[in-house]
Amino acid sequence: MSGIFKKIIDGEIPSYKVAEDDRYYAFLDINPLAKGHTLAVPKVVVDYLFDLDAETYSGLFAFIKKVSAALKSSTACKSVGLMVYGLDVPHAHVHLVPLKGIGNELNFSNPRISLTPDEFKITADSIYKEFIKL
Ligand code: 5GP
Repeated sequence: MSGIFKKIIDGEIPSYKVAEDDRYYAFLDINPLAKGHTLAVPKVVVDYLFDLDAETYSGLFAFIKKVSAALKSSTACKSVGLMVYGLDVPHAHVHLVPLKGIGNELNFSNPRISLTPDEFKITADSIYKEFIKL
């Protein structure tokens, strides 16, 4: 049976897409630490990020470089933080979190923010618009 992120990539479960190419997909985390908190995944299913083959791994980082640029242009952030956690969902993924620079922002113990479906959609669309310019 496919995992949740594979179902998201295949469109069987809805997501707020922020970027895509033939090998990678990025979408808003449903339980974000900040507006624009994004998950970037390879389309190939491998549980653990550091088990990806070298080419897919480096391709993922080339992809997230672009996604981070789109995040930086579309959200009022000072920087984009990168985090690998991977304790919940067994499909390799990287968290990208827009940072304000106030400290301790990449901490999963922090309260998550809640966004309406409209806010998720507007945020995702504005990141996607920047992504496709790159
Ligand atoms: P991790 O595996 O890195 O510990 O955490 C998985 C992340 O995936 C969490 O931040 C969680 O909010 C997010 N997540 C889990 N299920 C879904 C889902 O169905 N849709 C989206 N957009 N995010 C999810």
